[in-house]
Amino acid sequence: MSMLAWREHQSNLLLRFGVASLVVIILIAVGNGALLSGYVGRIMLDREARVTMEFVQNVLRSDGSIGYFADARNAELERRFRGSIEHLVAIPDTHRINIYALDRSVLWSTDQAIIGKHFVANAELDEALGGKLVVESGTIAAAYREKPEHMGLNVSSDYFVETYIPITYAGSSQVQGVVELYKAPVALTELIRQGQRSVWLSACLGALMLYLTLFWIVRKAHRRILQQHTRLRRGETMAALGELAASVAHNIRNPLASIRSTAELALELGTLSDAVAAGDITQSVDRIEGWLRDMVSFGYVDAAHQQSVDAGTIMQECFAAAAGELARAGVHGDVVKDAQSDVHLVLADSQLLAHVLHSLLGNAIEATGRGGRIIGQVSAGVGRVRLSISDNGRGIAPADAGKLFSLFFTTKPKGMGIGLVLAKRVIESFGGSIRAESPAGGTGASFIIEFPEV
Ligand code: ADP
Repeated sequence: MSMLAWREHQSNLLLRFGVASLVVIILIAVGNGALLSGYVGRIMLDREARVTMEFVQNVLRSDGSIGYFADARNAELERRFRGSIEHLVAIPDTHRINIYALDRSVLWSTDQAIIGKHFVANAELDEALGGKLVVESGTIAAAYREKPEHMGLNVSSDYFVETYIPITYAGSSQVQGVVELYKAPVALTELIRQGQRSVWLSACLGALMLYLTLFWIVRKAHRRILQQHTRLRRGETMAALGELAASVAHNIRNPLASIRSTAELALELGTLSDAVAAGDITQSVDRIEGWLRDMVSFGYVDAAHQQSVDAGTIMQECFAAAAGELARAGVHGDVVKDAQSDVHLVLADSQLLAHVLHSLLGNAIEATGRGGRIIGQVSAGVGRVRLSISDNGRGIAPADAGKLFSLFFTTKPKGMGIGLVLAKRVIESFGGSIRAESPAGGTGASFIIEFPEV
């Protein structure tokens, strides 16, 4: 799979995950919201019904009017019973009260028309006669109005609670009769709605937070995978390039060496008519040799053998080794070390570090040209060792500054654009950093390497 196709596949996966997790989280939130808000409503209605039941039973028990259910002909009990009814009708939000005897006949009702009637097919009444407190709630739908005992009921609120209260003597479970209350509890309804709104709000907020957190984690992981994959691919490319370079170098190094020695010999003996041409040969061979060194080094960075080395010595050796090159180019090179310390120890592979410095020096020579000046500096700062190679050459164009360390970036007609990439890779593998500085609009460039002090 190509890199592009792989990235697209990963993005599709992320998108699919985003949509699927959103759907699942919405379903969970809706399920939770519905369950919890239903539960909140039921709990509040139940609590209200129990308080009402206690009130109704106490009213009927306190003056003994409960006896009226069993003895409806007793005038004294009837008088007390009617007194109790006055308390019951005063219960707030009550629109109708039906009081049933054990034979399901209506003993008393706020609706005179149904007093004395029997309501046989009423499951809730049956349950209440069996001793159970029954609470029914909902909106007053047409079907609900169709219940015979609801006929003529006219309540303004569309939310409705119907409570069947079994009436018993204190300490007894034997039901004497049933009181049925129809309420349109405006305050309670508002309270239930408020509770349900809070439940829905917290379910939605919880779902949103869960989704955002989940998505954030997955997106972060996705980005890390992309980065690692890119790094891996780059590593593979570099390794392949290294192998290729090693075999190319092996095959052309020997012939190059013989070309060079022949040219040198010709120069010394003066047998070559044009000494300038011979100089050109050696320069070209030097350049090819430099490229080969760059390419071969790609293959060895990972196997670099690090030890504590003196950066100052390596810088000096590098300038000394390039003395011929500097002289041929007519460039003046100097190494300056800070006076405070003789030794600047860093953890590195001395050969690879020398190679990086040589590469930077080679670039500086090319950038300055005849009459130029290059300074190699080594100094120690707070916990850092700083190496720099500065020249007074043509400098770096602002547009190029960000591309210097990209593979194959070059502004030279015969350049390869791998020297700085390699330099960065080598220095970073030693735990250091490298950057370029060039005064805007001015001349000259500095390449600065920083190492943690050993
Ligand atoms: P190459 O030398 O083959 O072009 P490098 O990776 O070594 O490859 O350098 C990349 C580019 O960075 C060069 O082509 C040049 O534009 C720029 N560069 C490097 N060193 C200097 C310098 N000392 N002064 C100005 N530009 C430089």
